[in-house]
Amino acid sequence: MPSKTVKTAARTGKSRPAHGLSIVVPVFNEAKGLTSLHDRIAEVARFLQSKHNLEVEVVYVDDGSADDTSHTANALPALPLDVQVVTLSRNFGKEAALLAGLDHARLGAVLFMDGDGQHPPSLVETLVSRWLDDGFDVVYTAKAHRENESFLRRTGVHWFYWLLNWRARLKIPEDAGDFRLLSPRAANALRQMPERNRFFKGLSSWIGFRQVRVDYEPAEREHGSSTWNVWSLIGLSVEGLTSFSVAPLRVASLLGVVMAATALLFGAYIVIETVLFGEDVPGYPSLVVGLMVLGGVQLMMIGVLGEYIGKLLSEIKGRPVYFVAEHTVKHSAASKTRPSPDDVVE
Ligand code: UDP
Ligand code: MG
Repeated sequence: MPSKTVKTAARTGKSRPAHGLSIVVPVFNEAKGLTSLHDRIAEVARFLQSKHNLEVEVVYVDDGSADDTSHTANALPALPLDVQVVTLSRNFGKEAALLAGLDHARLGAVLFMDGDGQHPPSLVETLVSRWLDDGFDVVYTAKAHRENESFLRRTGVHWFYWLLNWRARLKIPEDAGDFRLLSPRAANALRQMPERNRFFKGLSSWIGFRQVRVDYEPAEREHGSSTWNVWSLIGLSVEGLTSFSVAPLRVASLLGVVMAATALLFGAYIVIETVLFGEDVPGYPSLVVGLMVLGGVQLMMIGVLGEYIGKLLSEIKGRPVYFVAEHTVKHSAASKTRPSPDDVVE
């Protein structure tokens, strides 16, 4: 049981300074900006090595890119940090790429950041210092504001989190992103989460430990465009909601109660009107409206149930979340002696 394991891990006491940090970067068609991003990561690694005596590696997970990403990543210099390149057998999606990175990370603490330059490497120092100096286990970042986003999107996000957190014991922080650092024990806890339908932000919040928020201003994408559109965002939201909350099912029960109560009141009203005042009740319009409302709500709720059943099916099938096509490890001069991990898929 994951909860039991988490408890045991929590008892081991404060987060000890670990021996290293693995930076996991999912990349999908990011060949153009990868070299400059790597330079910036290498610079941060140099700083972390001198300031915190921290060993750093970077794990690029090529999520089935159609461009030159894999080739570019394999040509990056392992200086001053080790470079791992995990090439997946096809595009599995960002959540799967993040899991592949987590599985291949070797150095204790794990930091996740996007490969499009939107997560500024300069902020990594702040995240590391919250972990090492202040003893936090999960340091997550959140957009300082959403002023540059459309009203519709902001409202959508707000409602999504409201529903997600509705009467939930564990609240998932609004606006938190995937740019986050996990201490070794938090990363281990995350590895023990067995589910295949992964909603990363939710999972790393669910594990508990000491969590802290850092506000930041996301940079513009360096090139290309975001792979998310309205539909994929709605997909991710449904995924997040159904993995983390039974709120939609509760909404179904609540709606049922409200409709039954309305029907009862309406029925009482009709009886009174007919018996006491002898009025002729117009049947046709109220009948049709009633039928349509009932039919619509029932269909909608069958859809909600279907989402959960679909989730059950994919969990029961138990397929691997990703397959690795190629895996290379380039050691920096400082760490030539460390053995390389096996190329294992869970
Ligand atoms: N990404 C990925 N697999 C995908 C889509 C995206 O690994 O199927 C990576 C992408 O290369 C980037 C990160 O996930 O590093 C975030 O993607 P994107 O910029 O499209 O999302 P946004 O910043 O708009 O949330
Ligand atoms: Mg982006």
